Amino acid sequence: MKIAFIGLGNMGAPMAANLLQAGHDVCVFDLVEAAMADLEGQGARRGESAEAACRDAETVISMLPAGAHVRSLYLGRDGEGGLLDALDHKPLIIDASTISPDDARAEGEAAAERGLTYLDAPVSGGVGGAKAGTLTFIVGGEAVGFDQAKPVLEGMGKNIFHAGEIGAGQVAKICNNMLLGILMSGTAEALALGVKNGLDPAVLSEIMKQSSGGNWALNVYNPWPGVMEGSAASRDYQGGFLTDLMAKDLGLAWELALKAKATVPMGSQARNLFALHSAQGSGQLDFSSIQTLYRAGE
Ligand code: NAD
Repeated sequence: MKIAFIGLGNMGAPMAANLLQAGHDVCVFDLVEAAMADLEGQGARRGESAEAACRDAETVISMLPAGAHVRSLYLGRDGEGGLLDALDHKPLIIDASTISPDDARAEGEAAAERGLTYLDAPVSGGVGGAKAGTLTFIVGGEAVGFDQAKPVLEGMGKNIFHAGEIGAGQVAKICNNMLLGILMSGTAEALALGVKNGLDPAVLSEIMKQSSGGNWALNVYNPWPGVMEGSAASRDYQGGFLTDLMAKDLGLAWELALKAKATVPMGSQARNLFALHSAQGSGQLDFSSIQTLYRAGE
């Protein structure tokens, strides 16, 4: 299949690489030259613009930081000059970024007006899952589009869920990430408490993994440096899932809560922690660096 892939960051680059591995013909575009050169080295074609990358694509996949980037890509500035206006050959559009459900619905409606099928398909599984091709895709949109997208998504992920109508993928993803923000900060808090009381963080992690506090952060994303080989914590919190992106997702959860009059005290606490951590200069570090907030003054 001919696929255009737009956004080759921490997640997009390994996802596009897996599509190449799966035998697809992939044309890439990113604002960062080095990111395109790297994929070219792995067999991808490059587009000089998003529009050029999509010219002969049967499927367009985007993996961008936030709603504003996705909006400006597809709808253009002030609704003019967006990519949707350049897709006369009607490829399937899959946006895998995490953005607000309202943004996804707006893009979906604009796509439908032009006879295009648009799916929101945010992912879970982190950079490790992106590299291993084991991501979870949480898809919102029409069933017919979902059926069309599934074989492509299977080249990058292991679990492909159809959450419901357009926007439903984002709602499920935002609920998941609110829980992730809570459990990562809770894990960091428990580890710091144990260490300040004389425990070895690796020993404490092993104990909690096998006990009722066991969770995803302890199993695959331990926030304490040196406890887990290959973790972001063990490489000075470089790469991975940025604190600023977690703060964005917790903000999206807050917006959903306001709209639905839902109560999210734990999510609000986590949002404030990550916003404070970002304000202190850690926005571009992996989100597990929240651990350092609990180690201040050491
Ligand atoms: P990133 O910041 O590493 O990468 C984003 C890429 O998009 C960058 O290479 C940037 O140059 C490019 N970009 C921005 N605007 C562009 C445009 N107009 N045209 C072309 N390229 C453009 O972000 P990431 O970590 O890869 O995350 C991408 C999305 O996936 C985010 O919405 C994030 O919330 C979500 N996500 C991330 C993770 C993770 O572990 N990193 C996990 C799940 C979901």
